[in-house]
Amino acid sequence: VFKSGLFGSKRLSRNERKEADSPYFKSIQVEIEERPEGLVSPNSPVLSAFPVDENLGLFDTLDYALKKVITVSPDVLLPANPSILDGVDDLIQLSYLNEPSVLHNLCVRFSRNFVYTKAGPVLIALNPFKEVPLYGKDLISAYREKQMDSPHVYAIADAAFTGMMRDGINQSIIISGESGAGKTETAKIAMHYLAALGGESGMEYQILQTNSILEAFGNAKTSRNDNSSRFGKLIEIHFSSTQKICGAKIQTFLLEKSRVVQRASGERSYHIFYQLCAGAPPDIKDKLKIKEVMDYDYLKKGNCLRIDGVDDAKQFKMLMKALDTMEMAKEDQMKVFSILSAVLWLGNIKFSVIDSENHVEVLSNEGLTNAAKLLGCKIKDLKAVLSTRKIHAGSDHITQKLTLIQATDGRDALAKAMYASLFDWLVERINKSLKIGDNCRSGQSISILDIYGFESFHKNGFEQFCINYANERLQQHFNRHLFKLEQEEYVDDGIDWTRVEFVDNTDCLNLFEKKPLGLFSLLDEESTFPKATDLTFANKITEHLNSNPCFKAERGGTFGICHYAGEVSYDASGFLEKNRDPLHSEYINLLLSCQNQLAKLFASKMSSVSQKKSNHRTSFDGQKHTVGTEFKAQLFKLMQQLESTTPHFIRCIKPNSRHRAGLYDSELVSHQLRCCGVLEVVRICRAGYPTRFTHQQFAERYGLLFMGQTSSQEPLSISVAILQQFNIAPEMYQVGYTKIFFRAGQIAVLEESRNRV
Ligand code: ATP
Ligand code: MG
Repeated sequence: VFKSGLFGSKRLSRNERKEADSPYFKSIQVEIEERPEGLVSPNSPVLSAFPVDENLGLFDTLDYALKKVITVSPDVLLPANPSILDGVDDLIQLSYLNEPSVLHNLCVRFSRNFVYTKAGPVLIALNPFKEVPLYGKDLISAYREKQMDSPHVYAIADAAFTGMMRDGINQSIIISGESGAGKTETAKIAMHYLAALGGESGMEYQILQTNSILEAFGNAKTSRNDNSSRFGKLIEIHFSSTQKICGAKIQTFLLEKSRVVQRASGERSYHIFYQLCAGAPPDIKDKLKIKEVMDYDYLKKGNCLRIDGVDDAKQFKMLMKALDTMEMAKEDQMKVFSILSAVLWLGNIKFSVIDSENHVEVLSNEGLTNAAKLLGCKIKDLKAVLSTRKIHAGSDHITQKLTLIQATDGRDALAKAMYASLFDWLVERINKSLKIGDNCRSGQSISILDIYGFESFHKNGFEQFCINYANERLQQHFNRHLFKLEQEEYVDDGIDWTRVEFVDNTDCLNLFEKKPLGLFSLLDEESTFPKATDLTFANKITEHLNSNPCFKAERGGTFGICHYAGEVSYDASGFLEKNRDPLHSEYINLLLSCQNQLAKLFASKMSSVSQKKSNHRTSFDGQKHTVGTEFKAQLFKLMQQLESTTPHFIRCIKPNSRHRAGLYDSELVSHQLRCCGVLEVVRICRAGYPTRFTHQQFAERYGLLFMGQTSSQEPLSISVAILQQFNIAPEMYQVGYTKIFFRAGQIAVLEESRNRV
């Protein structure tokens, strides 16, 4: 008899269980008690008993399965937990720890609107896809005053705050999960909590407002999420010695800039473009030549102009308010909008082919005149840069016409570079106004990491390659803290410990990072050969990396990588170009000559970067400035930063891919839980000894409770004597070489006695 939808979590009477366990029985009959939701897995024994009828569809099949008695092999059955454990708030409490029980427990809680559950030290957050009554001032106070202790983002933020104050160690809250799982919302909830705790100066309000700005410029509607973050973000919130917020710093990672010029069907470009067109007041529209969304080629691509339930005009007003809060002058705001408008008009510039070799000329249209006007350059100069290139032949200059593809790519590269520069400039500008002041000398901080989740689409390109690499790095950090370090500590201290296995992703990271034969190194090498193509790159990596167990050779310019979260097939097309990310110096020079001050500023930054790139080519200093290598370096730095903090992990889970409230797809949830090793974390925690003291610490802390005599004054002898005096059961602790390890809850009696003294 099933409890959960997924096959295996059953509740049998004692006799039935005996029967099921008996080696003489090859099969057992069970009745399906509840509608077995989520049985979409083709190998599920229930589904194979009731194959989905093409005409009926899955949902009707599930109804059909209800109350039926089917015959299965006993090995597919796993014990269910007694009803009293239905919906426990920490998975550690389950008597039987197996996947169906975990799924069932989460589902029960989810149906009661408890979207948070603990898995030992990790918080699991299910996305409710609706408003749930779990937030707000009263609840924040309740968590702060410890009147509430059920699992919550607030509890995690509180633990981070308390840890920072108590131990003087910086803390981090690391949020991960698939696209649409709720990372960004969770990060905001944590920020709200910290703002409420450390608020006073008004700085906390500014910090919260940064979300609106970054989301407008860095989020877009994708097929997975109407508000998908297309960049990674680490926000470091600083506290003064009086526990008040005194500053913050935002670091961003690899914005997906290709989205500005193209994207998959049904997806949008960055929100800000639509907001600007819909919400800018008439005088601004007039001055900056802003038209309607459908007038722009860059926005029409992807065939999606609106998001259901979102009012872009209203969002624009909120953005303006947020910019005001950041004390950005109206004049500067206009500069930002003028860059956006210029980017849009660049997309409307068209070329006409003038000869059989596909060489082009720029058409004189509204796109050209408006772009030139907004940038503050001569139409003639813009035209020349977009359609020709100067070649140096000895001391002579030859002007060569560009082909249609070259010209379009060049124009797009310019638009992307301008947008990415604008994004970076905004982040810098925000950091200036959140400046970490003198009152921040205590140097205490809590960092919140919200980085794009693992992505696996039908077609995966360079962006997915980088995003998934970042997720591998984070997963390793998670593994290190929850599996490796924890277990090493037991083994090193010589206590009895049976290792819990976990999926180690070192091989996959090596595949990316090894020098000279790793994906990034080989990509860089190929990127420096003028004759190389995406196909030669794909062949090269296949030749060199085939022996790595995480690499899957494929044909026709694609290759597979076995990530911790599943296998992904990548299409190498575009890899070289995106890795090189070229912007010809002639575009930079044009921008340098522009009247538009922001454009000029961006160009001077680009020119120093391109200087570095060309230096590399001549000097071979080994410091490559490709997108891949820089991203890798950025992640290394991030990992170093995180290593110096005490981490708190939140795993966001998407309960269904239809963004629907109340729908729990067990198969999808189980896949996500499996990916991040939740079951293993709970196992380690249950088997483990979460409380620990060095012999010295323990003797010092509880020595005063000791009533008897010991033969020696050694900390260890005193400690052991205290444990005996309090009758702590031997299976509840272990004495290691340097520390004493306790099971959860064992210290309470000692602490109580100590408080009474
Ligand atoms: P991506 O990787 O694409 O950026 P994400 O993990 O950051 O995805 P979010 O943007 O945080 O996902 O969440 C997607 C949507 O889910 C939100 O826009 C919101 O509608 C809903 N959502 C997430 N968390 C909550 C919550 N706690 N309460 C209510 N709705 C939520
Ligand atoms: Mg997000």
